[in-house]
Amino acid sequence: MEQHLYEPIHEEFRALCREFMAREAVPHYASWEEQGIVDREVWRKAGAAGLLGMDVDEEYGGGGQRDFRFNAVLLEETVTSGCSGLGFGLHNDVVAPYLTDLTTPDQRKRWLPGFCSGDIVTAIAMSEPGAGSDLAGVRTSAVRDGSSYVLNGQKTFITNGDMADMVVVVAKTAADQGAHGVSLIAVERGTPGFTRGRRLEKVGQKANDTAELFFDDCRVPVDNLIGTENHGFYHLMGNLPRERLSIAVGAVAAAERLLAITLDYARSREAFGRPIGKFQHNRFLLAELDTEITIARTFLNHCVSEFNAGRLSVVDAAKAKWWTTELQNKVADRCVQLHGGYGYMLEYPVAKAWLNSRVQTIYGGTTEIMKEIIGRSLGL
Ligand SMILES: Cc1cc2nc3c(=O)[nH]c(=O)nc-3n(C[C@H](O)[C@H](O)[C@H](O)COP(=O)(O)OP(=O)(O)OC[C@H]3O[C@@H](n4cnc5c(N)ncnc54)[C@H](O)[C@@H]3O)c2cc1C
Repeated sequence: MEQHLYEPIHEEFRALCREFMAREAVPHYASWEEQGIVDREVWRKAGAAGLLGMDVDEEYGGGGQRDFRFNAVLLEETVTSGCSGLGFGLHNDVVAPYLTDLTTPDQRKRWLPGFCSGDIVTAIAMSEPGAGSDLAGVRTSAVRDGSSYVLNGQKTFITNGDMADMVVVVAKTAADQGAHGVSLIAVERGTPGFTRGRRLEKVGQKANDTAELFFDDCRVPVDNLIGTENHGFYHLMGNLPRERLSIAVGAVAAAERLLAITLDYARSREAFGRPIGKFQHNRFLLAELDTEITIARTFLNHCVSEFNAGRLSVVDAAKAKWWTTELQNKVADRCVQLHGGYGYMLEYPVAKAWLNSRVQTIYGGTTEIMKEIIGRSLGL
């Protein structure tokens, strides 16, 4: 489908991303999947190539472009290259706004140059073994003691958790105040009392490390508070639409890639003396998927434009997130079927894409939570 979202400058950036992925990621990706984590070096190379912190101010080494289309282009190219699990999206799309918009000038000087160079890989730790969807129920505590916070608790499922040099931790600073007692506190690598647990073994997205984090009397300076004390929940709510938009960008790119791969296959694979795509059932199925992907792309492009204009609502971000990720899963499932037995073989990209798609309806807020948000907006 013709794209009306991007301008020539974004297409130039796309060419740079595509070349980077082909040179620095594709040749190593299988070994990263095997080890369950990417090599640190690819972060520094991405930083040097201008692929980290595109919307961070230039004075800190960023791209200085407050335009989410650059983020979208990079994400699309990681997906299209088959290397979707690098962790750049989490860093650029999810963590960046906390560091650019909620920090003090001193904090920006401390963290943003490393953020952009790839020397400071970031993560955000909300989920806990006992609290995922229900974020107000987090139990990790941060108790003020003089000029420090002392953190105790545990986080799980943290993307980039093992690689991260700095983690934005969601912690309770006022234990009895539910959502009104949550703060965001940066915890840096090497802080005594901060340890990492297992690198979790996942069904898909295998090159991207996902880890457990532990805080045991972990003392960090009060200067590591991000945003306002006890306003963490509001800071999260303010930034979750951007995270959901980013997941939707990945979902649509993945669905488009799956369809392209499967169309090639359906044209060349023969059964009963003709290409399998020529059977009416399959032709109609592919026509339906193509239609739905076109609709998804159209709504997504609208959401990216709305986000850039500062108008993307929480409800529209929720719609984009659940609908595109459910579509991605449907497309992946149908495309595996169209590949027959080969669709179940990991050497076929469609099989890996199917495994990688499954988590998309779970993280960043599950489909059910997205429908809760939309349902509430309907007064229900
Ligand atoms: C690969 C991966 C990477 C992740 N990365 C991160 C990360 O970087 N940082 C981070 O903080 N977290 C991360 N997560 C965690 C993720 O955000 C949570 O798993 C997710 O929010 C769901 O929480 P949960 O697993 O506790 O499930 P639960 O909240 O226990 O939900 C279980 C089921 O109940 C349903 N449910 C819950 N509440 C309702 C309700 N009100 N109505 C209807 N149904 C409901 C859910 O939809 C789900 O189907 C990651 C997870 C994975 C798998």
